[in-house]
Amino acid sequence: MNDPLHDGFGRRVSYLRLSVTDRCDLRCTYCMSEKMQFLPREQILSLEECLLVARTFVGLGVDKIRLTGGEPLVRKGLPDLVARLRGLEGLRELALTSNGSQLPQFAQALAQAGLHRINISLDSLDPAAYRRITRGGELDQVLAGIDAAIAAFGCRRIKLNTVMLHGGNHEELPALLRFALGRGVDISFIEQMPMGETGHSHASSFHSSADAQAQLMRSHQLIPSLESSGGPARYWRIPGHESRVGFISPHTHNFCSSCNRVRVSARGELFTCLGKEGMVDLMPALRAGDETGLSDLIRQALAAKPREHRFDLSQAQGTVARFMSRTGG
Ligand code: SAM
Ligand code: SF4
Repeated sequence: MNDPLHDGFGRRVSYLRLSVTDRCDLRCTYCMSEKMQFLPREQILSLEECLLVARTFVGLGVDKIRLTGGEPLVRKGLPDLVARLRGLEGLRELALTSNGSQLPQFAQALAQAGLHRINISLDSLDPAAYRRITRGGELDQVLAGIDAAIAAFGCRRIKLNTVMLHGGNHEELPALLRFALGRGVDISFIEQMPMGETGHSHASSFHSSADAQAQLMRSHQLIPSLESSGGPARYWRIPGHESRVGFISPHTHNFCSSCNRVRVSARGELFTCLGKEGMVDLMPALRAGDETGLSDLIRQALAAKPREHRFDLSQAQGTVARFMSRTGG
């Protein structure tokens, strides 16, 4: 292996979030606009190119990759990509983030292909509210997906992600916590980030981690824990339960100083910061199969990784104009 990747502020970058598609079968209000224009297929990384991106980053010392999107399970051939990524020497953890809708069909194949962990998004347990938040999603399908994932992976390798929405699901947060505890899975509550003009106000529906904690403490004994999963979540424990309760608080607890990650979009753009517009286009080097050029570009991009970002809820189009689904959240 070459020298491990570091950015200009001495932070070691060991985690890649790789988007395999910008498409999705849902249109969550905080993530996408109702009428999305997706990229033409020829502009999307082929599975071979995804593998080349991953191999190059692993060669540079990245040891954790999360496949994301859009919805990664709408991408054909995903279990096959997982199996091939698992063959990369030096890759310690391979994870996936999914909305769960396709997991009844794919959970078993993903486990067999060697995927280590799955995060599943779940914002409501009320079918009508779920449909409203996701603009058309069917809750039953996702609940079946969660059960299929638990059957295939076991509950300790599953985490639920809930984006907190004031007036959207905030009253349901205790019920979502009880659901996670009942299933023995972890859950993270995420503060909304203002990304892209989705046709929904990120500001007026913002619900903070502090408000959620106060709310959950009325019914549960939450004890702060020093555990880390290597990401921005701060964890809490509830006596008598295996589940960890995480809070991801980009507004109230900026986590940039320990940032260890970068993102590659389905179009081959390298984003070194979630909250900044800047990117480096890896596609020409990828299409040319130029591994050395690719490594050089990645090192140069990392040297210019911003120190930090601040989200600003006052801007209608979001702190950054691109949608979360385009970035690979
Ligand atoms: N489609 C998959 C899913 O929904 O899990 C993976 C991609 S999605 C962009 C990844 C994660 O980003 C999900 O947990 C989603 O809830 C979260 N997300 C999307 N937009 C967000 C926003 N504006 N603020 C905070 N989290 C967001
Ligand atoms: Fe699709 Fe995930 Fe975005 Fe929802 S959060 S629209 S499921 S990509």
